[in-house]
Amino acid sequence: MQRLSYQRQAILNLINTSNHHWDAEEISRTLSDQGESVGIATVYRGLAALESAGLIESIQLDNKKRYERANKAHHDHLICESCGSIKEFIHPEIEQLQQNICTDNQFSMNGHQLLIFGTCNTCRQNKGVSL
Ligand SMILES: [Zn+2]
Ligand SMILES: [Zn+2]
Repeated sequence: MQRLSYQRQAILNLINTSNHHWDAEEISRTLSDQGESVGIATVYRGLAALESAGLIESIQLDNKKRYERANKAHHDHLICESCGSIKEFIHPEIEQLQQNICTDNQFSMNGHQLLIFGTCNTCRQNKGVSL
């Protein structure tokens, strides 16, 4: 990959120094809070370029992508549709089952994502939603 532009490097640094799952608006806002004004269109283009270079990873939610560090250990996500919180989890049996499916289908897996959508515990308690 060619050298990163100053703005893309700033986006990458922000993502790499946190555990957050960022959307483009948050990145643009945080950079401008830090005195680095990067327009939203530049952020979108930068995120797409960084992702295709394998430097960051994304999860696709209903209406937007969220981006995170690419150098975390593999994990899956629980996504609260009420407050937007994202919790990471890893479950060895789920990992193994997916590997079994690939083996059964003579399929070679490069990766997978599991997104579970629902209501987090805090929101459940606030709203009296039962499991
Ligand atoms: Zn919630
Ligand atoms: Zn994550």
